[in-house]
Amino acid sequence: MISKHRSMVRVMTSVAICTTAGVLIAAQPTTDTHRFTEIRNGIYLAQSTDPVFNSNAVVIVNDDDVVLIDSHVTPSKARDLIASVKTLTSNPISALINSHHHWDHAHGNQEFTDIPIIGHEFTYMKMAAAPLDEATYTRGLAGNDTRLAEMRAQVAATSDTAERATLQADLDLFAAHVRDFDEISPVPPTVTMNDRMTLYRGSREIQIRFLGRAHTGGDLAVYFPDDRVVFTGDMALNGPSYLGDGFVDEWPQTLENLKALDFDVLVPGHGNAVTDLNRIDLVQAYYRDLWQKTAAKHRSGVTVENASRTIDLTNHTEIPIRQVGVAPLTVQRIYDRLEHPD
Ligand SMILES: [Zn+2]
Repeated sequence: MISKHRSMVRVMTSVAICTTAGVLIAAQPTTDTHRFTEIRNGIYLAQSTDPVFNSNAVVIVNDDDVVLIDSHVTPSKARDLIASVKTLTSNPISALINSHHHWDHAHGNQEFTDIPIIGHEFTYMKMAAAPLDEATYTRGLAGNDTRLAEMRAQVAATSDTAERATLQADLDLFAAHVRDFDEISPVPPTVTMNDRMTLYRGSREIQIRFLGRAHTGGDLAVYFPDDRVVFTGDMALNGPSYLGDGFVDEWPQTLENLKALDFDVLVPGHGNAVTDLNRIDLVQAYYRDLWQKTAAKHRSGVTVENASRTIDLTNHTEIPIRQVGVAPLTVQRIYDRLEHPD
């Protein structure tokens, strides 16, 4: 069946026909702000073309509508996404799914108040409370300030005119992005779910699945059974995820539940599509080992700082882990889980 959307795709730059590890990339339409990679059958990975930090989004072009997954890092980036989607199809955006509550995936939500926003009840709870006070977010803001200061210092330090112009352009781009944060007014999901919800849109079945706690308490995977594709947000990337809000003890089992789905392409919340599904096994082994080694330090009364310097995971060569040590934030989170399991 030839879907209606296919005739509407406007390819603004190149059309690449290539095979990467079994994934046929039919087209990569690009706008001023986004590159779309068609994973399969109207399921597009949407990535920013500028270098500032952002999450992936997914654009699902159905027979008569469009469903989006994740709303990007700021309202400004969300507006760019909406404008770019219009170059792919004239079908209206009918729903947004939040993979989880983190700011880089959900702080564009306020641009979607005219359609249902679907999220886990945990995501609602986090976003309806005080999302701008969440430690993960305030650390993100602090990171922006640090990066701005570094970039300003680099501009000041160079005497090369051409290099200065390049660095200043990068600084201007990043400073504008940081100003975009002022506009953020978080909007929680308007439709919540626990374990499972299915959207039937034209000929497409979209399964929204909670597979257990992992990167947060409410990670949703979006599974396309007919196309054997799954979008995992940050619960499964090509390697370990940010662990500051994570449930490292439960995460390997959640990934086991993910592996029980029938798919051969994993679309993560950051980075490119993954077809080497052995990466999931490597990350499971890493989390199990990280949990055990950190718990051993905790049992021995080792401080977070010392544990952070000495936990050795360099046996995970394929991740790859090359240096001894784990981020203090990760150790602190695991210590907190050990002391307050819930
Ligand atoms: Zn996240």
